[in-house]
Amino acid sequence: MAGFELQPTQSLGRCPLCQHRILLPYGSAWEFGIRWRYRLCTYCGLVFQSPRLTEAQSAEFYQTHYWAAHVGLEKPDEAIITYQKRRAEHLLSLVPHEGVIHRLMDVGSATGVALEAARQMLGCEVVGIEPSDSFRAYGQKQGLDMHPSLEAWGEQGGRVDLVMMSHVLEHLPDPVAYLTRLRREVLTPEGYILIEVPNVLAQLCYEAPHLICFSPRTLRAVFEQSGFRLVKLKVHAQPRQDRYRSRPLYIAALGQITPGLPAPLLSRAPLVSEVIQRQYHLLRGTVGSRNPLPRRIGKRIKAVGRQIRKALNRE
Ligand SMILES: [Zn+2]
Repeated sequence: MAGFELQPTQSLGRCPLCQHRILLPYGSAWEFGIRWRYRLCTYCGLVFQSPRLTEAQSAEFYQTHYWAAHVGLEKPDEAIITYQKRRAEHLLSLVPHEGVIHRLMDVGSATGVALEAARQMLGCEVVGIEPSDSFRAYGQKQGLDMHPSLEAWGEQGGRVDLVMMSHVLEHLPDPVAYLTRLRREVLTPEGYILIEVPNVLAQLCYEAPHLICFSPRTLRAVFEQSGFRLVKLKVHAQPRQDRYRSRPLYIAALGQITPGLPAPLLSRAPLVSEVIQRQYHLLRGTVGSRNPLPRRIGKRIKAVGRQIRKALNRE
């Protein structure tokens, strides 16, 4: 990481989804020699990184270091391409097939594997947005229409019927603002978004570039806050189902712009049960699905529940 100082300095005093101010410490990860900390909003249940990198630092991180430092690859290889293809095909299976999608955009399209899959499965025109120079060049060599940013693509104009984002939304500082922008500037009037993110209820999502860790409920709230009705939502372990069959590692969701959608009321989460559910899935993963949970683990789950209840009572 020569020439780049990673130092997360931007602290969030409010929840980026509901603006609530009462936040609990909620897990952390150790990466690049830095402890990355997460907070839980005690109102809506969103889990998010704070403090985090500033937007300028973050841009530099992705442009030059992300694939090399985080994934360990500077250029695409066969294994990652096969993995991305299976992931894309599974996600695209959520899309209605009755000829409603004429043009599709994949944001964070990497090598363009999902674009190829979409072209074959939906028979539509495709366009990719990918900031990494080497990945974009790879896709362009395959004859794919790919651009470094929405701004660069926007110069040629036009609208798309579906924007797909696979494992991208959790990297964005303000998901509601981004989805709102897609609705206003990129999508056709009744266009779709197709999103996949890690499920914080079933796995440790804490990684330096993960700014938000979604549960099915908080992902739905982000859709509705951005003007999209949730059409389908599926939790699953694809394409790692061989190893993690019973664990809902990922959330795949399809949303559609719905004009006149009433402003949603973000309700106080059934937070205690959600947090306990999360602990349960995580510990189940450690213990294995057939073995009984040891008593000390049951005690730990109860302790987390007590911590949340105490925070709620303080307000
Ligand atoms: Zn909140």
